[in-house]
Amino acid sequence: MTRRSTTGNSRNGSGPSRIDGALVVGGGYAGLHAAAALQQSGAPVTVLDSRPHHSFVTRLASVAGGTAPLGDAFATFDELGYRALSGHVDMIDDREVILADGTRLQAEVMVVTAGAVPTLPDLPGIERTMPLRTAVDAARLRVEVDRSHSVVIVGAGATGIQLAGAISAAHPEVRVHVVDRDERVLASLGRPLGDHAEQLLAGRGVGFELGHEIDRVTDTGVQLDSGRTIDGLVVWAGGFEGRADSFGALPVDNGRLVIDENLRVDGLAHTFAAGDMAAHHDDAGEPFAMSAQIAVQAGRQAGENAARLLADEPLHRARLNHRGWVLDLGGNRGVAEIGPITLAAPVVDLLPPLLHLAIDLKTLWGIGGAEAIRRFRPGAHAADPEALTESQQLSSDPEAASASG
Ligand SMILES: Cc1cc2nc3c(=O)[nH]c(=O)nc-3n(C[C@H](O)[C@H](O)[C@H](O)COP(=O)(O)OP(=O)(O)OC[C@H]3O[C@@H](n4cnc5c(N)ncnc54)[C@H](O)[C@@H]3O)c2cc1C
Repeated sequence: MTRRSTTGNSRNGSGPSRIDGALVVGGGYAGLHAAAALQQSGAPVTVLDSRPHHSFVTRLASVAGGTAPLGDAFATFDELGYRALSGHVDMIDDREVILADGTRLQAEVMVVTAGAVPTLPDLPGIERTMPLRTAVDAARLRVEVDRSHSVVIVGAGATGIQLAGAISAAHPEVRVHVVDRDERVLASLGRPLGDHAEQLLAGRGVGFELGHEIDRVTDTGVQLDSGRTIDGLVVWAGGFEGRADSFGALPVDNGRLVIDENLRVDGLAHTFAAGDMAAHHDDAGEPFAMSAQIAVQAGRQAGENAARLLADEPLHRARLNHRGWVLDLGGNRGVAEIGPITLAAPVVDLLPPLLHLAIDLKTLWGIGGAEAIRRFRPGAHAADPEALTESQQLSSDPEAASASG
C-alpha cells in the first residue's frame, strides 16, 4: 500500500490529467472496499474525495452523542494506506470526472461511490438543522450537544434512534426529544426492535413525539403540526437520498445510478458504481435499502470487476446479501434482527453493541487491514500526536480541517 498523496493539475480546456490504472470517486465504505480490491489485484489505484479523510459513518452517532471518542469518526486516507486526491467532483462521464475547480481527470477504469445526501424537505428554517452524515458533522454535533440542555432529533429511524441512545447514555442531563411523522420508532424494521428501543430510551428520559410532523424550525427549536413548540438544538435525521442526477447526464433511478449485473453503469463501458449512489437490487428485483453492509459488498465486487476489466478478463456477476440490522443504543444496550434472529429484549439487548463493534472492526479490516484496526484501538489517538491534532482541528474548526489536506 502506498502512502503518497498527489493532486491533479489540469484545468478544463486543456486536456485531462491521466490517472494510471483505476480512479475511485468517494472514499467511504464502498469506495475504500473497491480501492482495497484493486490494490490487492496489483492495479494502481487513486481515491478521490472532497475530504482528506474517510468518515467512519456507522460510528458517527456514538461520536456525536459522546459515547465514543472523536477519533473514531475518521481516519485520513494516508493513514489507511491509500494514494488520495482531494477534490469535489461536479461531473461524471465514462472513466472521467470534472472537479469543481475545472480540473479534468481521466483514468483507465473508474468506480464511483459518492454516497447519498440528507433528504431535506422544503420547510421554513430547515437550514438551521444539523445533519449527521460525515465526521465533520459528528464533530460539530458533539461540540453543540456538549453545550445544550435540550436536543430535538427529527427522525426515529436508525440514525435518529442511535443518536438519541448515545446522547441519553453519555449526557443524562440533556433532555432528548425524538419527533417522527410515523407512529412507530424504527418503522422500517421489525416491531419488536422499535418497541424495545422506545422503551429503553424512554427509561432514560427520552421524550417521543410520534405521529407528528414539524411545521417549522425556529431560532430556538421546532414547532410541530399540533402547535406544540419544543426548544433545543435541532438535528435532522430524516433519511438520505441519492443525488446521482446532479453529476451530469447519467442513467438514474430514484436518484441512484442504474447499473448492470456486473455493477457497471448503464452505457458507460469503463465505469462501475457501488454503495448508496448505485441502485442495487436483490435477485427478486427489489431495491436494497442504503446500508453499510451493501456498500461494503458492492464496493469490493465493483473493485474486483474494475481490476478484471484492466486485466482484460471476463467480469463477474455481483452477489449482494442483506443480512439484517444491528443498532447500538449506547449504555451497552442495542437491538438487532439478523435473519430469523431478533435481539430486542432485556439481557439479550447487551449483545447488539458487541456485534456492532465486531462488524465495525471487520469493516476496518476490509479497508485498511491491521493498520486501520491499530488506528482505532482504545487510546490510540492520545498516543498519536498527528491524529490528536486532527481530532482537535475537527472539533474546533471542522471546516478548516476538511478543506486541508
Ligand atoms: C449516522 C449513521 C449511522 C449508520 N449506521 C449504519 C449501520 O449501523 N449499519 C449499516 O448497514 N448502515 C448504516 N448507515 C448507512 C451507511 O453508513 C451508508 O449506507 C454507507 O455509508 C454508504 O457507503 P457509501 O460508500 O456508499 O457512501 P459514504 O460512506 O457516504 O461515502 C461517500 C464518500 O464520497 C465522498 N463524496 C461525496 N460526494 C462527493 C463529490 N461530489 N466529490 C468527491 N467526493 C464526494 C464523501 O466525502 C464520502 O467520503 C448509517 C448511516 C448514518 C448516517
